[in-house]
Amino acid sequence: MEKVKTCRKSYYKIDGIGNINPVIASKLYLSVCLPKLIYGCEIWHPNPDSIEKMEKLHCEIGRKIQWLPDTSASPASYSHLGWMSVEAYIDVARLMFLWNLIGLPFWTVYNRLAIRAITNVRLNGKHHGPIAVMYETALKYGLGGRVNEMLDTGCLPSKENWRKIVKQLVCHMYSHKWKLMCSLYSSLTLTVQLSTPIEISIWWKLCRRNARLRKQCSLMIKLLTGNHSLNSGKYRHVVNTSLCQLCNSFQAESLCHMLFQCEGLDSTRSELVVKMTEAMPVAMKLELQGMTDSDKTGFILTGMNCDAVIPEWYNIYTGILVYISGMYKQRGELLT
Ligand SMILES: [Zn+2]
Repeated sequence: MEKVKTCRKSYYKIDGIGNINPVIASKLYLSVCLPKLIYGCEIWHPNPDSIEKMEKLHCEIGRKIQWLPDTSASPASYSHLGWMSVEAYIDVARLMFLWNLIGLPFWTVYNRLAIRAITNVRLNGKHHGPIAVMYETALKYGLGGRVNEMLDTGCLPSKENWRKIVKQLVCHMYSHKWKLMCSLYSSLTLTVQLSTPIEISIWWKLCRRNARLRKQCSLMIKLLTGNHSLNSGKYRHVVNTSLCQLCNSFQAESLCHMLFQCEGLDSTRSELVVKMTEAMPVAMKLELQGMTDSDKTGFILTGMNCDAVIPEWYNIYTGILVYISGMYKQRGELLT
């Protein structure tokens, strides 16, 4: 498929610059490469095979940008960059194109064609041609009534308002689909619990502010997307165990276990936890102490449940990164 080749080529040109921050690489992809991939999809109806190829490339580039392994689960391959699926982007483009067509002066041939095609679908239920597909997309998001009203009254919302309505509905439906997709992968249990789709991860935002934190931020995304060696003990290929090999608790090795429970990591924990909490205000420290281990894990992995980087908390973020990466590194060293 030509569009896939063009998009891949254009992305690898950007990738060739080398060491680009994921937030910047993502912005370049969304503004330069993705438009090439979905170019003309407003009026061209890609078949399921083409959509699959486009989604595959979308995932591949999401993984490359975030330095995730090729084997990482598809639903989490770009969710921390705040992207939606290719299909969702096509739907937004179609609904915006439909607004443009209806908004054209009545004497233009395109406007007349649009009105005729939509009226056909409304009256006869005929579903043929690109305009009918656009109308079907509007129906899919519950916008049929709005489109009918626009045609009947000739009153259109402003382009900005329409874009806002469309994005809100598409994002809402995509979020539901994303959660369903993630539920198919056992490795993504934590991703669904702690990540918000269509939102750039706080760790990538932090990495943009300080490139020196790149390795630790990258590890956070790997842990959040299930791309780690936990739960696959060093004897996994011998006895196929998922139990922690560092203590005698006979517990399955999870992030929560490694960070706050494993006795085999007690000495490293007591040393690193001081570094993490010393930058916290007293109230936050007390709140953290009062949490369950599972809540503590969620609290620190989500950057204290924040969407944006708070400059005053910079030392706390760094403390969290040092704690988690230190614990993970120590675990790895003890198991080798
Ligand atoms: Zn353990």
